[in-house]
Amino acid sequence: MVRAEGVHKRFGRNEVLKGIDLEIQPRQVCCIVGPSGSGKSTFLRCINHLDKIDGGRLWVDGQLVGYRQRGDKLHELRTSEVAAQRREIGMVFQQFNLFPHMTALENVMEAPIHVKRESRSAVRERSAKLLDRVGLADHSTKYPSQLSGGQQQRVAIARALAMEPKLMLFDEPTSALDPELVGEVLDVMRQLALDGMTMVVVTHEMSFAREVADLVVFMDAGVVVEAGKPDDVLTRPQHDRTRTFLQRVL
Ligand code: ATP
Ligand code: MG
Repeated sequence: MVRAEGVHKRFGRNEVLKGIDLEIQPRQVCCIVGPSGSGKSTFLRCINHLDKIDGGRLWVDGQLVGYRQRGDKLHELRTSEVAAQRREIGMVFQQFNLFPHMTALENVMEAPIHVKRESRSAVRERSAKLLDRVGLADHSTKYPSQLSGGQQQRVAIARALAMEPKLMLFDEPTSALDPELVGEVLDVMRQLALDGMTMVVVTHEMSFAREVADLVVFMDAGVVVEAGKPDDVLTRPQHDRTRTFLQRVL
């Protein structure tokens, strides 16, 4: 579902991704862990072309992200084509970024109606089901300010799912939450994984990674230091850098 080959990204002189190779199969959950500044968010943003890569290749569902290849040359896609690719990819951030003037239900309904131009009644029905799925059926008419952080983040997940994405990207979805609210968001993500969603999750929640991930990737300083099954990477790491990191976070 996601394939990265030698992905490079720099900001000015700062080379942030130094050749990332990674393959994530459909229905797999990949957790990316690593120290601050290692390039985790940048890599996630490259997957949906919010950041443009400077080298290498990146595919989502067999499609080259952001480019079309003719011969050896890459040509950038048009804005509308990039938007079409992005519609297939849901993204959830640390900050929930809900529309403050819309209710939970309206937040979930917004993109399918305005981006996909689906009929309001069909979207309303699907959105209500999604709110139910994230445990918020009773909160659909509330505004974000009337919801806890954990509830807001669950609305944000429902909102991303409303576009019926092939792939979900999560960038530290629980890092902004009070500790007692982390569990309810991880529960929703765990269920989504069980339902077969392909997910890439940047997280510091090692127990979630251990339990839910098919693939754990440890990044440091713009490279994948090691990647493999949770047990191999988190319990029996091969590299000192991974061990040092794990000692700090566990
Ligand atoms: P954290 O755990 O703190 O979220 P991260 O692993 O997600 O860290 P990134 O946010 O990907 O790290 O940042 C990697 C590097 O890229 C950092 O040095 C950061 O300053 C730099 N960087 C990220 N985005 C930009 C940008 N838009 N312009 C310039 N530099 C950037
Ligand atoms: Mg980050």
